[in-house]
Amino acid sequence: MYDLIVIGGGHAGAEAAWFASRAGLRVALLTLSKESIGRMSCNPAIGGLAKGHLVREIDAMGGLMSLAADAAGIQFKTLNRSKGPAVQGPRAQCDRTLYAAFVRTTLERLENLALFDARVSRILVRRDRVEGVALDGGQTLHAPAIIVTTGTFLRGLMHTGETRTEGGRYGEPRSEGLSDSLRTLGLRLGRLKTGTPPRIEASSVDFTLLAPDHGDPDPRPFSIESKTPPINQALCWITHTNEQTHQVIVSNLHRSPMFSGQIEGTGPRYCPSIEDKVVRFRDKTSHHVFVEPEGLHEPWLYLNGISTSLPADVQDTVVRSLPGFGNAAIARYGYAVEYDFVNPNQLAPTLEVHGIRGLFLAGQINGTSGYEEAAAQGMIAGINAVLQHHDRDPLILSRDLAYTGVLVDDLITLGTEEPYRMLTSRAEYRLLLGCDTVYQRLSPLAMSLGILSGRRAGLIRDRLEREAAGSRAVAETSFRPDQETSAWLESLELPISSETTLSALLQRRNASLDRLIESARSTGRLEELRKALEPLSREELDGVVNQARYSGYIERQKKDAERVRRDHDLPISEPFEFNRPGLSAEVVEKLNAFRPRTLGQAARIPGVTPAAVSILRMHLARNEQSRAASQV
Ligand code: FAD
Repeated sequence: MYDLIVIGGGHAGAEAAWFASRAGLRVALLTLSKESIGRMSCNPAIGGLAKGHLVREIDAMGGLMSLAADAAGIQFKTLNRSKGPAVQGPRAQCDRTLYAAFVRTTLERLENLALFDARVSRILVRRDRVEGVALDGGQTLHAPAIIVTTGTFLRGLMHTGETRTEGGRYGEPRSEGLSDSLRTLGLRLGRLKTGTPPRIEASSVDFTLLAPDHGDPDPRPFSIESKTPPINQALCWITHTNEQTHQVIVSNLHRSPMFSGQIEGTGPRYCPSIEDKVVRFRDKTSHHVFVEPEGLHEPWLYLNGISTSLPADVQDTVVRSLPGFGNAAIARYGYAVEYDFVNPNQLAPTLEVHGIRGLFLAGQINGTSGYEEAAAQGMIAGINAVLQHHDRDPLILSRDLAYTGVLVDDLITLGTEEPYRMLTSRAEYRLLLGCDTVYQRLSPLAMSLGILSGRRAGLIRDRLEREAAGSRAVAETSFRPDQETSAWLESLELPISSETTLSALLQRRNASLDRLIESARSTGRLEELRKALEPLSREELDGVVNQARYSGYIERQKKDAERVRRDHDLPISEPFEFNRPGLSAEVVEKLNAFRPRTLGQAARIPGVTPAAVSILRMHLARNEQSRAASQV
């Protein structure tokens, strides 16, 4: 008898088990093979645009993925560095063996967590409550809560050209009975597809023909616990496809399971296969291919950008057409995998299945793609299982608080028909969700829930104090236009004609706090400010400057979020008749299909226009008025 059973030891399962067992629950984690815990099925990297934000959010809540990425990272880079801080995404190239080993050994050390090799074939439910699982072989295991994180394994079918092999991912069996068990519980399942590129023997590549791709000169870790800056130990490379590559692909499309009709599942729009890209962007004669080591001592390279399920002989020709790969030896051919998923619009914001108490789903089973998306969901399901265990209110992160909130809200409100990937453009309050503010936004909440304590909590408290002191000092600094100050600021090309705050000065395009401080130091000015800013790390200082620099926009987004939240929370009580004057037949059809529970959910249904939302708001207000009148 356990408090919680987690099915799956991938990125969602590991995170869920980490949170729940550290919060004191007795947890059993069941996986097809303990060897594969924390395995990176595809690219050996963590983070990137929007995905990096998710990892930092996991760190701010007290999670595991940030620690693993720092421990296994071999090249660190902040993507979008030239753009605003809100859309910069930290990314780490990782050693895939080290990554999985770190996750596994860390989980093995957790006192309340038991790891088992076992295949779950059935979820046991009695009177709308889960009570355990049945394993292949007939044994049962009992718990009042279960988190299912089975990734791409449910009836997984792998394709390389005309060859089809049953399996969840290369060399691993698929999961058979669980899909039927979920269906029997009333859940609707669909079929999706994702793919992976070929891996190449590094010794067969001519690196002199590739462009090197360096890590950042000042690598930054994902976790606040990683105090020493990470070291870039590996180099990545860039090559590109060319007309010959595209020619080979086009003339072999009939042998691609994607195009021959052999694959039924829908593939990821934002991570398409190379055959997809060549067909969709016909006028492009070249695509970048990022050549990434799978680890420090791993003999294979990962070709990021050419995921494919073309037959092996075609993959040979495609790879050998790339500059530097003329004599390349493929160590493992690329393949696509089709699998069952559960449409996530059947879940509550806690990721619990509607109507079945204690049954949570997280990760790729919910139609997402990506390690980070999986881990963020594992965190939400894990924390909510803990809160449910203690009969406490659930944790629901709003869209203006976290990318994780956007992810979960999109999934449960809209569902998905194709693999869902996190993108910065999915968040309407990007300025509020930068990586530099994760600890301010999320850690106090995690601390109040009791899931963030110990060393990490201490480090975060110290950081928040330093940042608050820094922000206060910036806000309290202003300049009077006396002769001396005016001349000094003029010399920095920051002229003032009236009393000006430092925050206002920082909003000017050419203002640099570093330059200002440097100059102030040499002239003995701004002593208080310099003292307050001295203890801040580079990242913390950048955060303080960004908050001041974008304060106007940030305030506006906060107000927008507040207004939308009021609307968002406007309930649509059942039964509600959507067929109302002013709403088109198409909008009514969509509203009837989704049956949103709040105006906010209605607003995010594709095809429900802002105009339709204001008409709906009007009808809801009228309903409310007539309800109030009838009560009088
Ligand atoms: P997984 O990491 O898949 O873990 C599933 C776990 O469930 C495993 O531990 C397995 O043993 C266990 N399990 C399954 N069934 C049972 C059962 N019945 N009983 C007990 N345990 C069970 N992501 C990207 O972002 N970009 C990509 O390009 C990309 N390409 C991919 C290509 C391939 C071929 C594959 C397989 C995956 C790809 N991914 C990609 C997805 C990425 O690997 C997943 O999103 C991520 O691993 C999902 O994490 P998860 O925890 O949901 O599931």
